[in-house]
Amino acid sequence: MVHYLALFDGVKGRALWLGRTKRNACADQRIILHAKDRGCTRPGCDAPGHHSGVHRAAQDWKNGGNTDIDDLGLACPPDSNLVETGGWNTRTLANGDTQWIPPTGLPMLTGGVNDYHHPERLLENDSGPPADDPAA
Ligand SMILES: [Zn+2]
Repeated sequence: MVHYLALFDGVKGRALWLGRTKRNACADQRIILHAKDRGCTRPGCDAPGHHSGVHRAAQDWKNGGNTDIDDLGLACPPDSNLVETGGWNTRTLANGDTQWIPPTGLPMLTGGVNDYHHPERLLENDSGPPADDPAA
């Protein structure tokens, strides 16, 4: 596991919302994405952050998308292509997760968010072992 330290300074913070001024994400944005997403955001993908690129969740750059931290997530190249040419869509949820939405008409494909890189989420709603668990 690689640890990242992400500090947010509300007074002297460095620019994480670049709008249309920069096409490529800056180093600060990439550090934040590694801390937030840890890897590719497509559900089921285990590609780590260092094998992923920066992905605009709402709108690609060529279609007017911005380079703002609250619209960016990590996606590995094959999964980024799913959005580019495969009919998939993505959006950023209120909690910052990137939600993947499969193309319509293909019910066997499921979307959602990727918990693979966030195993702690599996424990968030864990209320402990069942009452009849002899190991408890
Ligand atoms: Zn991926």
